[in-house]
Amino acid sequence: MFWNYAQPVSIRFGNGRIAELGREINALGGKTGILITSPSFEKRGFVQKIIADSNQLVKAVYSNVNPNPDITECEDCIALIQKHQCDFVVALGGGSVLDCAKAAALMATAGLPVSAYMDDASLLPAKGLPLIAVPTTAGTGSEISSVSVLSDYQKKVKKPLATPAFFPTLAIIDPELTLTVPRHTTACTGMDVLCHALEAFWSRQHQPICDSFAINATRLVMQNLRTACDEPGNLTARERMAEASVLAGLAFTVPRTNCSHACSYPLTNDLGIPHGEACALTIDHFMRINAENDDGRLKMLANMLGYPSAFDLADAITQLKKDIGIMPDLKAFDLTDEQVESLVQNSQNPILKLNPVEITPDMLRDMYSQMR
Ligand code: NAD
Repeated sequence: MFWNYAQPVSIRFGNGRIAELGREINALGGKTGILITSPSFEKRGFVQKIIADSNQLVKAVYSNVNPNPDITECEDCIALIQKHQCDFVVALGGGSVLDCAKAAALMATAGLPVSAYMDDASLLPAKGLPLIAVPTTAGTGSEISSVSVLSDYQKKVKKPLATPAFFPTLAIIDPELTLTVPRHTTACTGMDVLCHALEAFWSRQHQPICDSFAINATRLVMQNLRTACDEPGNLTARERMAEASVLAGLAFTVPRTNCSHACSYPLTNDLGIPHGEACALTIDHFMRINAENDDGRLKMLANMLGYPSAFDLADAITQLKKDIGIMPDLKAFDLTDEQVESLVQNSQNPILKLNPVEITPDMLRDMYSQMR
């Protein structure tokens, strides 16, 4: 067996560690920074707090990143970075903010429009500005991943771009920042964590270091996501979910995500379902398909977590989805045949091939038809 592992992102984990921002910027040699965030953080006064924590080294702010960021938001960030001649970037927010900031920090160093990189990721530059990523959801793992997921609303495309140059320089994971995440977003982002862990574990590119992260992340989600949803102020549950999120991010960086993430892109694009909920819709279904063809690894995972079989773990995931209010099917959308076909076609992302069982268009058609 041959495998590689490298993780270039320095990680600082712990409650209150956002206060170390200024020291970290000094260590990077940053002089003029931009903060990239979302409107809700600006409203809640976080922009001023980050500027203060940065010892006033953050001198420009872009606070208009929305969920599933459009390439125009990324273009706006690039323009501000260039206008202020920023030499570092701080990203504060959920995966949407982190992905937009990762793309802007890299693309600002070159001259092409963002759409050019969406069409051809091989054009991406090799090195961007130093980026400090501060996640505020326990979900995407974007703070330690080499992926940026961007949307082009005009072309109705949402897709992941991947390059080692997207790795942030530093991730500050401060679980206290997740205390304000609303219940449904906690549920969706928590299921995203579970999907990262499971898809990494069963990926054709699985390897032992990432397996360890994936097993632990799965355990943490199964034990803590209900509490994080039911008791939003429970800091221990929030800490455990933040830990699960970073472990699951580490778990999928090499093996990559596959089946549920491939399907999530059209579910979000066509139907507007939040990313984590879109992933969660299909994860238990794919777990059962993969369990039918298990080489023993899924049973081992289930046993390690205290379930007799992978099918029992799949049932536990279905129950977890119910308990935390994740939509169980697509009945609410009253899908037409054309919409089902569009989902089938647009789920055939290249990452689907990393699922251990070949997922054919007919299998996708059956799955979406059952969900209607
Ligand atoms: P998000 O960033 O879209 O945020 C969802 C909502 O929660 C937003 O309205 C946001 O303002 C709000 N929010 C965020 N933090 C909050 C807080 N602490 N308190 C209150 N509200 C808060 O959600 P997400 O699930 O973190 O990110 C999803 C995006 O990340 C998708 O575009 C998805 O495709 C992408 N993604 C990227 C990777 C990667 O490796 N780069 C991996 C998985 C998903």
